[in-house]
Amino acid sequence: MITASPHARITGSDTAGPSALADWRQLWRDAVTDVGQLLGLLGLEHLHNLLPEGNAGFALRVPRGFIARMRHGDPRDPLLLQVLPSVAELEQTPGFVIDAVGDMGSRAAQGVLHKYEGRALLIASGSCAINCRYCFRRHFPYGDEMAAAGQWRHALEHVRQDHSINELILSGGDPLALTTAKLKELSQGLAEIPHVTRLRIHTRLPVVLPERIDDAFQQWLAALPLQKVVVLHANHANEFDASVDAACARLREAGATLLNQSVLLRGVNDDADALTALSERLFAAGVLPYYLHQLDRVQGTAHFEVADTDAQALLDAIRTRLPGYLVPKLVREVGGDASKRPV
Ligand SMILES: *Cc1c(COP(=O)(O)O)cnc(C)c1O
Ligand code: SF4
Repeated sequence: MITASPHARITGSDTAGPSALADWRQLWRDAVTDVGQLLGLLGLEHLHNLLPEGNAGFALRVPRGFIARMRHGDPRDPLLLQVLPSVAELEQTPGFVIDAVGDMGSRAAQGVLHKYEGRALLIASGSCAINCRYCFRRHFPYGDEMAAAGQWRHALEHVRQDHSINELILSGGDPLALTTAKLKELSQGLAEIPHVTRLRIHTRLPVVLPERIDDAFQQWLAALPLQKVVVLHANHANEFDASVDAACARLREAGATLLNQSVLLRGVNDDADALTALSERLFAAGVLPYYLHQLDRVQGTAHFEVADTDAQALLDAIRTRLPGYLVPKLVREVGGDASKRPV
């Protein structure tokens, strides 16, 4: 569904007429941040008094287009469970920590994580259009700009000096939270670094706020003289609709290879039918499954964890039902390793 939000027209955030796409920044601001409002939209008001005080310390945030893909009246909806605060988040579970993957130990420069050979990862932005309850980000109150601060100066300097880096990964937060003008600053800087031949973007925005892939962004991506990979993040087939398909098509038209990473989440996608449907739906949108991550052991997320033996059994099951190219790699991130670790 493409929403020309009436709110966007009232505030006159751009010159578009009523039939044009709403501006993505306006849709970003229109996201639901109040639990009562979210439950009201879904006919689930009765759940309100079961939820934790103060959203268990991590704000609720969901774009309206994503809410529109949830099933009305279903408290077990797989999209809702990814965003709804739960009292289970208040439990202190041994082994579940604040910095689960040791990111703080691999900072190479402001906003740069350089752990793996050949590729450097930029924490381009600390913002996201959606707050996913299982995310490590719940414990990092990032500023709005990370590597992007000061025209990307420190990040680009690190990359310029290390000729072993041929792939730059924009991650976050969500790097597409940045304006296209900010991304242009980066591509101008990269033009002077010939050893970088590939740009990879890790983003959930084409799924949760597909309007972000607007004309200006598509043109920027298409004009980049680099190989382009966009790694989406979807966990369930229901996250896709025609607006997401359209965003994926635009990314492919701009020359990007599209991959997806998912997190294996108890109650959301931990059954063979859901994982099979996800792979099939990804492929229908022109996206190949890449990684299926075992949950990072982040405090407040233990209720989402799936045991390794169960995860392996699920992979065995979907392998018998899908072509090999639609079976994601089951991995876990372990601090200090030279790559993601196969489970
Ligand atoms: C996950 C990750 C990457 C990308 O790893 P791939 O296996 O190439 O997808 C790169 N840098 C860091 C710091 C990462 O955490
Ligand atoms: S970084 Fe990704 S998983 Fe975490 S809150 Fe943002 S969109 Fe969700």
